[in-house]
Amino acid sequence: MAFSSIPMNPKWFEPASKFVDSQFPAAVAKLGQLVKIPGIAWPSFDQNNLELSAKKVADELGQLDFFDFVEIRKAAKPSGELGAPAVIARKAGHKAAPHILLYAHHDVQPPGDSALWDTEPFEATLRGDRLFGRGASDDKSGIITHLTSLKTLISLAAEVRVGVTVFIEGEEEAGSESLPEFLKTNHSDLAADLIIVADSGNWSEDVPALTTALRGMVSQTFTLKTLDHALHSGMYGGPLPDATTAMIRLLASLTDEAGNVAIVGLDSVSVDGPELSEKEFALTAGLLPGVKRLGDKAVTQQMWGEPAVTIIGLDLPAVDVSSNTAQPWVRAKISLRLSPSQSPESGLEALRKHLSSHAPFGAQVEFGRHETGPGYLAKDGWAAKLAHEAFSASWPNPSVNMGIGGSIPFISQFAAAFPNAEILVTGVEEPDSRAHSPNESQHLPTLRRAILAQSLILLNGNDLER
Ligand SMILES: [Zn+2]
Repeated sequence: MAFSSIPMNPKWFEPASKFVDSQFPAAVAKLGQLVKIPGIAWPSFDQNNLELSAKKVADELGQLDFFDFVEIRKAAKPSGELGAPAVIARKAGHKAAPHILLYAHHDVQPPGDSALWDTEPFEATLRGDRLFGRGASDDKSGIITHLTSLKTLISLAAEVRVGVTVFIEGEEEAGSESLPEFLKTNHSDLAADLIIVADSGNWSEDVPALTTALRGMVSQTFTLKTLDHALHSGMYGGPLPDATTAMIRLLASLTDEAGNVAIVGLDSVSVDGPELSEKEFALTAGLLPGVKRLGDKAVTQQMWGEPAVTIIGLDLPAVDVSSNTAQPWVRAKISLRLSPSQSPESGLEALRKHLSSHAPFGAQVEFGRHETGPGYLAKDGWAAKLAHEAFSASWPNPSVNMGIGGSIPFISQFAAAFPNAEILVTGVEEPDSRAHSPNESQHLPTLRRAILAQSLILLNGNDLER
């Protein structure tokens, strides 16, 4: 049975805000300890660090003295090899109260070239209101948000009625290869009414956001053939339908004059997110002077709610070794981003149909490898309403919904494994966090606000009745 929406109870704001302030210095110190453990789930790095970071997270969860169990578990990857250690902790709640799953990951991206860092990547360094270090934001601040907001709930609620599972994954940055198996083998321990994924960003330092739309994707490799062998471009040129010309015409047919995707059968959903001006877009994307953007809808709508097609590979003779030869066949790879509502299967079918029916000169199309990944569109349920109120109360500005043009595959995996659960994708990052890049940092006021907002969600959720 679902929960009906309730407005946020204002009584929790003052005590929660005071409590989070009292805990914040210790929370930042704990974040610093986590940053020191370089747990990287790529095979070329010392995997022992992942064991250490899982153990540290499990110890911290154990110290809350709250859970029925705190365990480190692993699941098999498709190769059969065991995945990285994940931490799972669970506390059963009242049957009438919601069960809430809190997700973050303890592994981090490799540091990259250390010369590009202004500080030691695995040493937390405070500069101004930012804590620098690899993983300081992505996603060790997500772990700190869960730990500290739980502490707030435990300390302030007269009785903790909600059930809570904390799941801290250990290989998100390496592609979550064992996650599908982990979701299967731990299904009942992970099952929840609400899943909070603290692994995304905010619109800006001062504007909080829920990430509510992720595009899906398909990619398709194909070969276009017009001749059974290469020919001299002078001897036969004129009547000769060479494959390169055919390919260029075919690729050009994928978009219209304005740059909108021209493939029939693709959806779009309207995302009422914040707007990015044409100027801001040109600046962040690095458009050269005089170069115009594609598409005729608003910039964020075009990036989050519309399909997008990109030619990401094309096999042609390189210019330096080119000769007077007409090509008999050409190979290309197309990446098609799909609106969050579209199934990858129908997107792939629409793309293939377009390629087959628009091949010029009667050229033959031969499909090769393809990849697919589903998108995600958040439900607008009780938790989203509560979260917007909690975020708006904790930041200086009201919260917005935002999308991500790329995919976060594990979110669609959660959505598929727990179709009845509401998922909130929240975050501690903002545009200057530089996750995955040198000089990653956590903006500490954002971390404090994220902890307060999540504390308010937990405290209000704790009063809900099924
Ligand atoms: Zn992350």
